[in-house]
Amino acid sequence: MRKFEKSQKLDYVCYDIRGPVMDEANRMIAQGVEILKLNIGNPAPFGFRAPEELLMKMNSNLVHTEGYSDSRGLLSAREAIVKYCRKKGIEEVGTDDVYTGNGVSELITLSMQGLLDSGDEILVPSPDYPLWTASVTLAGGTAVHYICDEAADWYPDINDIKSKITERTKGIVVINPNNPTGTLYSKELLEEIVKLCLENGLIIFADEIYDRLVLDGLVHTSIASLAPDLLTITFNGLSKSHLIAGYRCGWMSLCGDKSSARGYVEGINLLSSMRLCSNVPAQSVIATALEMEEETKKLLVPGGRIYEQREYIYEALNQIPGISATKPKAAFYVFPKIDIKRFGIYDDEKFVLDFLRDKKILLTHGGGFHWEKPDHFRVVYLPEMEQLKSACSRLKDFLTYYRQQ
Ligand code: PLP
Repeated sequence: MRKFEKSQKLDYVCYDIRGPVMDEANRMIAQGVEILKLNIGNPAPFGFRAPEELLMKMNSNLVHTEGYSDSRGLLSAREAIVKYCRKKGIEEVGTDDVYTGNGVSELITLSMQGLLDSGDEILVPSPDYPLWTASVTLAGGTAVHYICDEAADWYPDINDIKSKITERTKGIVVINPNNPTGTLYSKELLEEIVKLCLENGLIIFADEIYDRLVLDGLVHTSIASLAPDLLTITFNGLSKSHLIAGYRCGWMSLCGDKSSARGYVEGINLLSSMRLCSNVPAQSVIATALEMEEETKKLLVPGGRIYEQREYIYEALNQIPGISATKPKAAFYVFPKIDIKRFGIYDDEKFVLDFLRDKKILLTHGGGFHWEKPDHFRVVYLPEMEQLKSACSRLKDFLTYYRQQ
């Protein structure tokens, strides 16, 4: 009898959605154990509600959005995205350069499938948002990880990037604001990356899904606005900023010099047509959403949930002996360091698994983000303050007795 195994390439796919920790969590949940999930950036289960106006709009649009749209997306949505790009200083973009997707996720995969052949390399940050590494690998390419440096506010190490560029390097992924570190890159740093890309003819893949979730009054710079002479693909969407992750609404926009990428653009068009189109009711609210800034901003200022929860988690984690964390400036993640000598930790996945079994809290180990050393884990600080307090006190208690070896 023939046996069918999954493709070996899938072994690279996203530890935050698979692996022994998730299996154990699912087993515990099936047994009725209540687990506090600090592992996934999905705002809705934690009481974050999408803006009422957006939901009403989508509801009333349902009767006009039953059919497929243009495979790139509704013209009205793409016009709104172009307007948003211009607002962010990205001039070289028109409606034909914009593709809507079922979340940014679909477009990450599509953009890699359209480009990569076996042996092609893409520079991906470490730590990364693991879908990038997975998509590069599934498309037949090789993800080459460049180091982001915790001591430098988690900024990418430019020398490390330089040392990893080869003949086969096609592009670089820049996640800003960053998941999992919560950092925000400065204009100067982005300019250095642009310079490297110009010198080496690299495409920039700019994942900016958290650009409307910036704290402390800081300003996000779109790397595409600094690189008019380079092909840059910018990814964005409404899952996080408008708290509608379930409606699957994202987009990507191509801008800059496309003269050497005609074949690639043709490939993107083909792949876009093959999936027919993205969710049309979700596309129909993009224009409204991008005009609504205040609803999101309320969460980010003192008194707002994301701001207050960031303040709390940062302080509370740093007060736990053996844990240190860099203060996140955007999104809703923190990527703390754990003193592996003190706790004898050699396996971060085991640490997260043991914590889950003992304290019923689900974290993601650093290795899930292609971070090599076993000395980090990610916390999603979306749950209500009381739950965060309970999580931190359970972690503190756990670390009073936990030793791995
Ligand atoms: N990019 C980053 C950095 C993310 O953190 C996420 C989701 O967590 C995504 C992309 C995918 O978002 P979506 O597919 O919901 O648009």
